[in-house]
Amino acid sequence: MPSISARYYDGITSRRQAVEVSLHPEGLAIFSGEGFVVARWPYAAIRRIEGFRGTGLAITRVPEPGSSAEPRLEVDDPAFAAELSARAPLSLTGAEGGRRERRSVVLWALAAVVSLMGLAYWGLPALASSIAPLVPASVEQRLGAAMDPQVRTEFGGPRGLKTCSAPAGVAALADLVGRYERAAGLHVPLTVVVLDSGMVNAFALPGGYIYVMRGLIDKARGPDEVAGVLGHEIGHVRHRHGLQAAIQSGGLAFLLGTVFGDFAGGTAILIASRTLLSSAFSRDAERQADAFGVDLMLRAGGDPEGLARFFRIAGADGMPGVLTWLNSHPAGPEREAAIRKLAENKPVVAPALSPAQWQALRAICSTTS
Ligand SMILES: [Zn+2]
Repeated sequence: MPSISARYYDGITSRRQAVEVSLHPEGLAIFSGEGFVVARWPYAAIRRIEGFRGTGLAITRVPEPGSSAEPRLEVDDPAFAAELSARAPLSLTGAEGGRRERRSVVLWALAAVVSLMGLAYWGLPALASSIAPLVPASVEQRLGAAMDPQVRTEFGGPRGLKTCSAPAGVAALADLVGRYERAAGLHVPLTVVVLDSGMVNAFALPGGYIYVMRGLIDKARGPDEVAGVLGHEIGHVRHRHGLQAAIQSGGLAFLLGTVFGDFAGGTAILIASRTLLSSAFSRDAERQADAFGVDLMLRAGGDPEGLARFFRIAGADGMPGVLTWLNSHPAGPEREAAIRKLAENKPVVAPALSPAQWQALRAICSTTS
């Protein structure tokens, strides 16, 4: 992966420095505009700073011995952010993070005990939905980060699907995602990327990871359809449906693996990823996501009719054997009608995207990385 531009604060002065960053086997390298090394951060020392708005991420590193500086690096490129998330165990920053981590271990130990007892009474689906609210956001994010590479290879073969990265398209997407994210009040930051695949599909993983396939943007007739699907997927994030599905399919192996803190390479992760990508959420989950998406559009821009309309468009000529958004979102006239009813007599507050932004989003895959 080539180097990309980023903003760096050394944590000592308030000066903002434009830098170039690149990923290497041993860590992240930060260079000045003139090509001098500013810093090298081993992946294990990198921590995510929560609350960063946009499609990228803000990170810091745990201080080196004898140093109290808290440097900060902000990256806007969603592809780079995803790549970094896949390599670094991006957990919370600072003392608060430590406290939360400790609390989460206690919660998880508790959850494991409850689950062993509860399994006998309720069975796994009910168990998953009662355990999910106990899961700390930081744990959900780590789970999503561990599933991200699985998703890319599952759909794209060993080399993975490429991320669409044409700058104007990324900026248009970031604008839309940013508005929805501010309106949504989520427990995790969103990481939304377009993957270069002809499939008409989009899906959400645990931890705020949302993927939109190029085929879905190609198929859409306007920005409202893409925005509607995005709002719907954000609804899955908000209601933690991906997390519930992961707990359900990964089962107790997943729970116990989580308690002991090691996600990477786990069989449970592989199983959970596959299940999530090949099966549908429940009808109730879909209705919840629809309602959340409609509400988001009414508050942050876009016409909910786009979501209702997309069911027809997506279904028009699904290629046989290719997973589509419609396969995993069984539609019916009642679902379209429910969406229209929610939006009835409510004004559209703003367009999802301007015409120029929509053109840029359509061309987002003209560059990939
Ligand atoms: Zn859905």
